[in-house]
Amino acid sequence: MVSYDDADFGVAALNTPPDSPTKDSPISTQYATYKTDSKSSALDVPPRTPTHNAIEVPALRSPDAHAAQYMHSLSASPSIKERRVSRNSFGASLPIPRSKRQSRLSSVAYPAEDGRPVRPGMPPIQPTRDILASQVQSVHPDMAKAAKNMAFAFDIDGVLVHGDRLIPEGKRVLDMLNGDNQLGIKIPHIFLTNGSGKPEVARTEQLSKILQNPVSTEQFIQSHTPMRALAEYYNTVLVVGGEGYRCREVAEQYGFKDIIVPNDIVAWDPSIAPYRVFTEEEKATSRPRDFARCNIDAIMVFSDSRDYATDMQIIVDLLRSENGRLGTLAKDPVSQRIPIYFSQGDMLCPTEHPIPRMSQGAFRIGLEAMYKALTGVDLERVVYGKPELATYKYADEVLASWMADLHGEERIPENIYMVGDNPASDIVGGNMYGWNTCLVRTGVFQGGENDEENPANFGVFPNVLEAVKAACRKELGDEFQFEWDDRVNPVLHGSAAVASAIE
Ligand SMILES: [Mg+2]
Repeated sequence: MVSYDDADFGVAALNTPPDSPTKDSPISTQYATYKTDSKSSALDVPPRTPTHNAIEVPALRSPDAHAAQYMHSLSASPSIKERRVSRNSFGASLPIPRSKRQSRLSSVAYPAEDGRPVRPGMPPIQPTRDILASQVQSVHPDMAKAAKNMAFAFDIDGVLVHGDRLIPEGKRVLDMLNGDNQLGIKIPHIFLTNGSGKPEVARTEQLSKILQNPVSTEQFIQSHTPMRALAEYYNTVLVVGGEGYRCREVAEQYGFKDIIVPNDIVAWDPSIAPYRVFTEEEKATSRPRDFARCNIDAIMVFSDSRDYATDMQIIVDLLRSENGRLGTLAKDPVSQRIPIYFSQGDMLCPTEHPIPRMSQGAFRIGLEAMYKALTGVDLERVVYGKPELATYKYADEVLASWMADLHGEERIPENIYMVGDNPASDIVGGNMYGWNTCLVRTGVFQGGENDEENPANFGVFPNVLEAVKAACRKELGDEFQFEWDDRVNPVLHGSAAVASAIE
């Protein structure tokens, strides 16, 4: 690289706008050439636009952004090679909730037409098909055993749905894993998404409608779900991100005791966010208090910020404060700093806009750079979500618990398949955790045979159905049938009339 400290070169560089390279020469080559020529006369290079009354002054600083030096050991597209350890590179240990067996009351959202009667205190009604299925399973014991020793972890967006729109193969897959298969057996599957911003129940209800299959909160992990465990550690927390007050609602459900959102702080002192237009409605719905008299114990970024300027200002104020007291400045920025947590680290998020939009990772790097520039010290922070280890550890807890619900055995199946569309989160995380990984072409990944940075170890598939079929053939044999058929049932002796009566 050329040195921008060279004063002669500085003039040449100023006279040559970086956005006007010649046809055949990239900018860096041009700069190198100018450096060589600058000995004779830097002013040989004509300015692009005539100067009128302007004087050109050499720049003292490199035009390169300084952001890189403010970033921690992370990358925009983490790969196995670059990232053997978590982005949480401070030796942080992330709390996750214990098995969800303790919270049996969380709801299972069934689509309306699929509801079964609930009889408190009574054994569950054994539907006829379940009896038939157990007979078929006893005819194929090895296959049934293998089916109980496998599980799927599905990313949602780009795999099963696009926003609110069903990917048709997604419904077929869930029908199949919920029992519409040769053995009539349920194959455990969980949903593992970096999505955020709504309570789990609201998400599973929405998902269950779109997929036309039951989706339980006990098989569902979104980016902030494991952060439930943090409720035990902190009393007063600032919760940032999401639509309206939905993340306050989420934090309440997680058991956080004293929850503050940025609107509460702006309502207390509007001058804290000088560029914010604070509406009457926002004022009326906020919960101001005297924040000069209360300490905030931790900051939780649950979802994407809807107002970067206000949220960043308040977060930086708190990080620079004395133990989370607004209006103060810490004497020691490290020992007096309150902790900050982010629910996920994705840089970009695909939306209906043609170029993916910035997500929490980009917001976090902005904060890290601002914090470092203002204090001179690195910001320690914790990130949850895929591909962080804590999220996969929690997935194990959820899988074991779900296995107990389906098969009465609380254990982790040996053969787990992650199906995702994003190599930088779904696939790298699954690979690092020792899962089988399947990359599908219905979302983010648009590449060739496999992703070059983070190749899926089980393969690349056109859609989720092909991935699941390949995994089932591997575990259950090529002859495994992907549909339930009453006529093959030994009890019915192939009678279609009886079969239809049972249905
Ligand atoms: Mg996805």
